[in-house]
Amino acid sequence: MGLGCCERSKLCDRCLADELAHLRGVAACRGEAWSTSVAARIASRDPWPDFIGKARELAFKKTADLARDDRLHEQLAIVCHNWAVTRWEQLRELTQTVASKYLAAEPRRRLRAAKRGRDADPLRLRRSK
Ligand SMILES: [Zn+2]
Repeated sequence: MGLGCCERSKLCDRCLADELAHLRGVAACRGEAWSTSVAARIASRDPWPDFIGKARELAFKKTADLARDDRLHEQLAIVCHNWAVTRWEQLRELTQTVASKYLAAEPRRRLRAAKRGRDADPLRLRRSK
């Protein structure tokens, strides 16, 4: 874990790998929570942005407390971003499945509504007397 081997802000390759293995789950959870909260706030289901610009900046921010080493920080930011993408795609698929089920059921739904509407139509009931 870097202790007694190297400085936490300058990890050697082996300690970097150890720290990454240790922290990647946390970074992944943060990534999932990130895109889940975005999905809850905005209706857009465009693809999640690539690991550049604002998205990259946010991924670094969300993992800033996990690492003092720059290389480790970047790796964790990438993990965070990748899991945000994965979760985002799952949510998109879910939305599409629900939407397509709804659309598939729509003709029957309309027919039922139309039947109910006709039966409940007072003019029609009066006329049928
Ligand atoms: Zn080390």
